Amino acid sequence: MTGRADAGKVPAGMPGWRNAPCLGCGSKVVQSRDGWLIIGGTRSGSYLVAWGAMPRLIYATDPAGVPGEKLFMLGVAHQSCIHTTRARLEAGTVRFPAELPDLELEQGDQVPPLPLYMLDKPAEPGSCPFCDSRFLLTDEHIWPLWYSRELQARGAILTGAATKNNRINITIPVCDDCNNKWMSVLEGDVKELLVPMADAGAGAREPIQLSVAQQIRLSTWAVKTAYLIDAYQGPVIPRGFLQEFALKRVPNPWTMVWVGGYTPDVALRADKKALDFLTSDGQPTKNSPNSFSITFTILNLVFQVVGHFNGGTWTLRDNRQYDGALFEIWPNPAEKLSWPPSIGFSQISWDALVASIS
Ligand SMILES: [Zn+2]
Ligand SMILES: [Zn+2]
Repeated sequence: MTGRADAGKVPAGMPGWRNAPCLGCGSKVVQSRDGWLIIGGTRSGSYLVAWGAMPRLIYATDPAGVPGEKLFMLGVAHQSCIHTTRARLEAGTVRFPAELPDLELEQGDQVPPLPLYMLDKPAEPGSCPFCDSRFLLTDEHIWPLWYSRELQARGAILTGAATKNNRINITIPVCDDCNNKWMSVLEGDVKELLVPMADAGAGAREPIQLSVAQQIRLSTWAVKTAYLIDAYQGPVIPRGFLQEFALKRVPNPWTMVWVGGYTPDVALRADKKALDFLTSDGQPTKNSPNSFSITFTILNLVFQVVGHFNGGTWTLRDNRQYDGALFEIWPNPAEKLSWPPSIGFSQISWDALVASIS
């Protein structure tokens, strides 16, 4: 699939585009923040293709045949606007710029064979865990550099095997494109939440309330961090999960995320478990491991991310007794989350929290 554009502002969907109106809802799609897909097809909407919704998958009006008519890169849409976009384009209610980049589709024998389907396997060493790229790999800090600076500003001296130059130095190779675009924007967005959460209710500072959108943003960041921790310690999570996450920029429905307060004794704690959850009638499932549990701390917060790989209608159930201490922020965030909670975790309750997922 190739596109071509003239010089000037980079058209939506072409390499280097930054933001553009959504073809579905009309509001802005930000390349490095939102989950989005690219739409191509005829100006009349008689034939449409969309890609970027799922890893290695293209949607088309008619997958069997490309029309003889000229095709264009029509633009981009939010992941959540895919159906509205299709309806609007087919109804012919979208006005396009006079100039659109050409789009050529290759089909059948023209398409070079794809590498073996391996989205169900964990990422391989030497490739970006979020997009499989083997080019321009950079060091992504699992605990971000802003966190080390924050600790320094609070008077901490960072020592130990996992530090370098008074910074936490636990890194994983991630491609330049993932690291410096969507992951960096997510990191910046979440820092704006984590630091006020850490300080809320301390001294003269008022408690704060987190909205649903803010809890979802926190969950997205916690899942990103959990995926990096998994990649660091011999990954078990299928790469398809990470690739889909990089496209959608929200956790999948088979993942749960909780947050709690934590009295820090060290700069960070982390634990990862590969698990074999049983079905509700006590049976094992076909794949093993079929799930993971990752618990980690940052500032005075503890996050727990649990997910399973069985997909479909399988759901996780939380039977634990952590009312008032541990709060689900994905997939069912509360309408408002007041912070800080009255009960928190500490070094003493850490082991029990980690072991509470089984
Ligand atoms: Zn939209
Ligand atoms: Zn990447």
